[in-house]
Amino acid sequence: MQQTAVIYTRVSTEEQAKEGASLEAQERLCKEYCIRQNWIILKVFREDGVSGGKIDRPALQKLLDYVSKNKGKVNFCLVHKIDRFARDLSIHAQIKGRLIKYGVELKSVTEDINNTPTGKAMEGMLAVFSEYYRNNLSCEVSKGQRERVLQGYWPFPAPIGYLNGFRDSFNGPIKKLKKPDCEYIKKALEDFAIGILQTPADFRRYLNETIKKYKWRKTPIAKQQSFNILYNIFYAGYACLPSLGILQKGKSESMISLETFQKVQDRLKENSRKKYKRMPVNETFPLKEKCYCLDCGYKITGAYATGRSAKYPFYRCDRGCKLGKRTKSISKDDFEEMFVIYVEKVKPQKRYIKLFNAVILDYYNKKINEKKNNVKEAEFKVNTLKERQEQLIDLITEAKQKGNSQRKVLYENKLDQIENDLLSMQTVKKDDEISVSEFGTVLETCKQLLENPIALWKNGDIYRKIAIQNMLFPIGLQYNAKIGFGTTEINVAYSSIKALEDHQTEKSNLVSRPGLEPGTICLRGKRSTD
Ligand SMILES: [Zn+2]
Repeated sequence: MQQTAVIYTRVSTEEQAKEGASLEAQERLCKEYCIRQNWIILKVFREDGVSGGKIDRPALQKLLDYVSKNKGKVNFCLVHKIDRFARDLSIHAQIKGRLIKYGVELKSVTEDINNTPTGKAMEGMLAVFSEYYRNNLSCEVSKGQRERVLQGYWPFPAPIGYLNGFRDSFNGPIKKLKKPDCEYIKKALEDFAIGILQTPADFRRYLNETIKKYKWRKTPIAKQQSFNILYNIFYAGYACLPSLGILQKGKSESMISLETFQKVQDRLKENSRKKYKRMPVNETFPLKEKCYCLDCGYKITGAYATGRSAKYPFYRCDRGCKLGKRTKSISKDDFEEMFVIYVEKVKPQKRYIKLFNAVILDYYNKKINEKKNNVKEAEFKVNTLKERQEQLIDLITEAKQKGNSQRKVLYENKLDQIENDLLSMQTVKKDDEISVSEFGTVLETCKQLLENPIALWKNGDIYRKIAIQNMLFPIGLQYNAKIGFGTTEINVAYSSIKALEDHQTEKSNLVSRPGLEPGTICLRGKRSTD
């Protein structure tokens, strides 16, 4: 029986602005692949202008819906590149898990994925690459953004009550007050400052009542959003990045006075329990990210206890369960030390990492050569298309001069098509060029991540720390005083090494000599499904 496939294509908003044909190019390449494989294409799901870091993407949801309703009828889900699917490891794991549940296998046009241990390892590694790449990008962006904030600009999305899309005479991004939203927020902040609204909950309730009544917003303000408003000095006309220690008089419009802002902060302090001081930034508490209390399921958060002469950072359960041996809270140092020990414990054995790395390296050497050839081929095609484009332009001019409008339209249509092809080809070429230049550095970091995640974690800044935690434990971590740390799922790359370990144990009956050549496994694994 002929096998079936659904196709999934995606471009993010930035890619969409830059290279309009990317979606079509992906689809065309996927369709060609299906024809080569002799698969029936059931449906194409197109995601336009959506980031790969989210799971609630409209087309993706439709795809999952479709495969669940057609359980047993869909064999493959085909993407052009794995990072089209998910740039975030936990999301990748989640989606893949659901596909497997419906009996659907994930396939990529440009990467080798199959259910052999090598294929699984490959897929895990690619997901790590994508995530690393994305984190790297966001770090790079923040350097420029940091400069902007130092100049008083705001290169981030507008806070609630403000409008995006304005620039001052020096072309710097500024925000303007959004009417009437800003009037309700201003009133709420001022009322909170003088105690008419007494608690953050009152503040939020007031805002949501005005939303209901005057419809100035589609959705009510969530709890976290209301805190963001209360704690954000942006509303008083400052540009502030607490994690980088930047506080700068801003160039955007202010909503309230600095005096009002300070009164709001004083009242917030009075409101919060005296023992705990709320920290607006959690750079001290990397483990706040996706770490849950095993006893009650609530988040584990970080806080400071104020002693006589110093502040002591500690972690605690949101519900107040015991995290320490006798105490509710556990000191930051103790908690993080336990985390380190746990990571060391779940880390794969060194010899399997070596094997894994060798397999990956072998795979990528081949892949890089392939990509380099692709780039050459694409270059040739681009040049041919450009020649034809020039010829057509000449023909159009000629037809125009001769007054042959029928010919002219014909040539113009052809020109359109060629220009579309040119755009797709250039996109594909760029994709491949980026992959080639990226591999080396990314591979090195990924090797380090597998071999010594703790060293990377300890030396990294808060963003790197969180990225590493997410890579190692995509679903998050659980903790309680008795058991310590635990998780239901470990990173796919790690678990694929485990699969590799199992595979090796099975094989060891046949091939018992040590120093097995990894390259041969790779080749065998790759060919098996072709
Ligand atoms: Zn708890």
